[in-house]
Amino acid sequence: MHPFTYTKANTATEAIEAVAAGGPGTRYLAGGTTLYDLMKLNVETPTHVVDVTGLSGMREINTSGDRELVFGALARMSDVARDPKIVSDYPLLSESLWRAASEQLRNMATVGGNLLQRTRCAYFRFGEPFACNKRNPGSGCAAQEGIDRGHAVLGGSTSCIAVYPSDWAIALVAFDAEVDVVGSKGQRTIPLNNLHREPGTTPHIETVLEPDELITRIRVPVTPLGWASTYLKIRDRESYAFALASAAVGLEMDGDTVRDARIAIGGLATRPWRTREAEQSLIGQRLTPETARKAGDLALKGAKAGHMNGFRIELGARTVAEALMIAKQRGLAR
Ligand code: SF4
Repeated sequence: MHPFTYTKANTATEAIEAVAAGGPGTRYLAGGTTLYDLMKLNVETPTHVVDVTGLSGMREINTSGDRELVFGALARMSDVARDPKIVSDYPLLSESLWRAASEQLRNMATVGGNLLQRTRCAYFRFGEPFACNKRNPGSGCAAQEGIDRGHAVLGGSTSCIAVYPSDWAIALVAFDAEVDVVGSKGQRTIPLNNLHREPGTTPHIETVLEPDELITRIRVPVTPLGWASTYLKIRDRESYAFALASAAVGLEMDGDTVRDARIAIGGLATRPWRTREAEQSLIGQRLTPETARKAGDLALKGAKAGHMNGFRIELGARTVAEALMIAKQRGLAR
């Protein structure tokens, strides 16, 4: 047990000041489903924890606006997943939450914290004697020569090939979501597609957030692509598992022909992975199993297999293709 101090903040300003006062070992605490887990494994050893669960105005779920859906960062995953408007008009968003974690975790975890969850790479989680540049910068990467079955085929580097784990972020990237953040330098908005970094030579730096910046809300533009959408997640077991491959897909159809498309993939890359070339390949085309498969192949373009994970390139392409056909059927059924 590593000792740490604890502050419960009542306002965002208090929280930001507490992080500044606590120094580099300080962590924000929301639902705690990642932080407690990694503290028990001695991977996270904060010296100071700033609890933000008491901040007001950050649990809002507003899905009635004409221009955007708004989710306060402290809204629970389970509350967003069961919001009636999300269930009926944006199944992609709802499914990405329902298919993540257990009910107990969804009742605790927040939609803001979900975006910042850390990788499930076993070499990262289980500590010494495994080398891990993300946990201990400069120490090496045990996964490169180790068991890489679940590691990334897109966006990796010689320093790190850890998969980014959130399902929710993949769905949000497909729909051009943005996050509002606040820190000591003020407020700013970050497109979700720009929030997470590829590992490069610094895999321990996972996002573009400053150490004291706090996500306050997530905003998703209202889109006609919501109805014909799905989040298809393939995993080793039916539930309570991270994705081997996943696809977030939204379509706007004109009969059989694709007017517009959104595709992002998860479980395969080091960050949420939007696949614009695959989207473009479908626009103006009839959506058939063949054109869907071509889009799947384009979504995985540039993928690099390690020793044991090559099968997930084919799996990823098939997942995208199947998700497109599911989304098409949903659109036809409306
Ligand atoms: Fe660490 Fe990344 Fe290598 Fe896993 S893949 S051991 S997280 S550096």
